[in-house]
Amino acid sequence: MIEFETIIKQNKNLGDYKLLTPGPLTTTNTVKNEMLFDRCTWDDDYKKITQKIRKQLLQVATVSEENYTAVLIQGSGSFGVEAVLSTVISNKDKCLIISNGAYGERIVEMAKRGKINYELYSCEYDTIPNFNEIRRILKDDEYEFITHIVMVHCETTTGILNPIEEIAKVAKEYGKTLIVDAMSSFGGIEIDVKGLGIDYLVSSANKCIQGVPGFSFVIADKTKLSRCKENSRSLCLDLYEQWITMEKDGKWRYTSPTHVVAAFSKALDELFEEGGVRSRYIRYSENNRLLREKLKDIGIFSYIKEEFQSPIITTFVFPYDNFNFNEFYNYVKDRGFVLYPGKLTDVDTFRIGNIGEIYEEDIHILCDVIKSYVMGRK
Ligand SMILES: *Cc1c(COP(=O)(O)O)cnc(C)c1O
Repeated sequence: MIEFETIIKQNKNLGDYKLLTPGPLTTTNTVKNEMLFDRCTWDDDYKKITQKIRKQLLQVATVSEENYTAVLIQGSGSFGVEAVLSTVISNKDKCLIISNGAYGERIVEMAKRGKINYELYSCEYDTIPNFNEIRRILKDDEYEFITHIVMVHCETTTGILNPIEEIAKVAKEYGKTLIVDAMSSFGGIEIDVKGLGIDYLVSSANKCIQGVPGFSFVIADKTKLSRCKENSRSLCLDLYEQWITMEKDGKWRYTSPTHVVAAFSKALDELFEEGGVRSRYIRYSENNRLLREKLKDIGIFSYIKEEFQSPIITTFVFPYDNFNFNEFYNYVKDRGFVLYPGKLTDVDTFRIGNIGEIYEEDIHILCDVIKSYVMGRK
């Protein structure tokens, strides 16, 4: 027990608490250090960082500069998703939105606000979309009004991992443009962007690449994006213009988040040093498996079936009736870890993210903390 308390103290001294939330997440000190210098937006050295990042993102996506480009956009991840929707889906187009969580619903909200034609296919939060149903919708779309398909890869609401491979196959069979919100999976799960025919993939700085919040990015099919001039209903979120400007020499349209960009560049280097997406996937998966096993042993069960569970974030059902999340949250926070509340309306849950600078040892300590809380209250 003494050892346990000492480890917790050490953990807290490192930086008060570790984030077990799916972005912002715990970053390395070396990533944080990059932000101690103030850079100039039009300086060549700074613009080179942007160009380096764009190249590296294509490497992470395993696509070539010949076919794809990476465009960075100020703001959080949602800004990137909205930039894609408002730029690439014209007034003559229609998109099929596939949703099984809050992020899918956010896409629907964006479509409504942007007056984008859409059709919704939704399913329960704990089930994956049925690709036969999707095939049927496309088949029934006799006059081919549907031009685009939009979906979320890892639904961070629950931690469910949607089968992009199968849906991409159907999308390509019917020749649709495919937009994937891979916000919480890109960099942490291998995605064969070109092989699957993903035309636009969106993610952000503060998820699996392990940078700090401040911008999102889009991996875009160049041929498709080049057809989107003057489509955008928004000035700031015009993905096409952002691309054209950035392509010149790495200067962003409007002020860029310089500190975040520098930190992200370092985070990308560290992803490659770790061994790339494959190695990170293994670390995340092992963290996740360990977490679910250890909590199961003390009677805390995950909400999503194991076969659909992502290695990113897990939703856990409250272990007993009068479980007090706020008290639990503060107990765990005082011992060095910050968790996430649940996002479901019908079941009482909380969530634990295991991405970021988190290792097996952290998961062991966390589970011991949770165990000591639950044993003391039950
Ligand atoms: C994090 C996340 C987003 C973006 O959320 P922001 O708060 O705007 O960064 C979008 N989709 C998914 C699946 C996410 O996990």
